[in-house]
Amino acid sequence: MEKLLKVQDLHTSFFTYAGEVKAVRGISFDLDRGEAIGIVGESGCGKSVTMMSILRLLTDTGKIKKGNAYFEGRDLTKLTNEEMLKIRGNEISMIFQDPMTSLNPVFTIGDQLREPLIRHKKMNKAEASKKAIELLRLVGIPEAEKRLKQYPHEFSGGMRQRVMIAMALACDPKLVIADEPTTALDVTIQAQILELMKELKNKINTSIILITHDLGVVADLCNRINVMYGGIIVESGDKRDIFYRTAHPYTLGLLKSVPNPKTLVKERLKPIDGQPPDLIQPPIGCPFTPRCQFAMKICAEKQPPYFEINEGHRSACWLNHPDAPRTIPSLGRGR
Ligand code: SF4
Ligand code: MG
Repeated sequence: MEKLLKVQDLHTSFFTYAGEVKAVRGISFDLDRGEAIGIVGESGCGKSVTMMSILRLLTDTGKIKKGNAYFEGRDLTKLTNEEMLKIRGNEISMIFQDPMTSLNPVFTIGDQLREPLIRHKKMNKAEASKKAIELLRLVGIPEAEKRLKQYPHEFSGGMRQRVMIAMALACDPKLVIADEPTTALDVTIQAQILELMKELKNKINTSIILITHDLGVVADLCNRINVMYGGIIVESGDKRDIFYRTAHPYTLGLLKSVPNPKTLVKERLKPIDGQPPDLIQPPIGCPFTPRCQFAMKICAEKQPPYFEINEGHRSACWLNHPDAPRTIPSLGRGR
């Protein structure tokens, strides 16, 4: 069956006074209908830029230099702005990190929920209000009718994020892209929002791309995970592959900063030392070399290709080469 989204060799740069920042350097991934995938990496790895490229929401300095992004067979990188306007908020919608800046403070929640319905679905105000109430109920907001007349500041952070989710679902999109949807929320609310997203995914069968710096966040919702570093995907695979058959040292580093739910032991979480690479002059070898405890001579000299670990699981690390002098140590997470 045709993939819902197929991104091929995407390159995006920003042209700044300091030079060309090669933020995304050849990304390929795909997504099936009804599937949820994660894109995970530290800030600056290119994960948000990838999504902004696909949605064609780059700022003036940003440019897609190469590659394609097929959504139901149509290449989004080639569509006109008018064609993109019909797709955004309708067939593909977004949930952002900070609901307060994404919601307009001067309009009621009702106005903001009705707007895409009137624009994309050609509903009249009464029809749109009815649908808006249904949407608020769907995302677990009590007293929906009353809430419709209120303004964003009258909602708590968690409730605002529920409203954002309701807005994203308004036009029954085929794909929802959520960029750090829970990062601004405290831990309990974070868990509730993730639970809601999981529930909704099962109920309405929308595809989801979840972008986050936290591997713990994707574990529950996503079946496949792409790990990004320095503008490329360094490892991708089924979530079990990523967690239990980790093949890339960077993924290993990310995992060490997630508490292990199996042991329930309060481990000391280890952030990865060092800084991400300069993408104005990207390294010619593996971008993780200066921070990698396993780095070898070849790592700084030559970018590793993707090695197929098992079906659907690939990793760009020289340690995955059959002749490598050593292998990645086990994390002891029950593999
Ligand atoms: Fe580390 Fe080398 Fe693998 Fe890069 S290619 S992650 S530097 S071992
Ligand atoms: Mg980001």
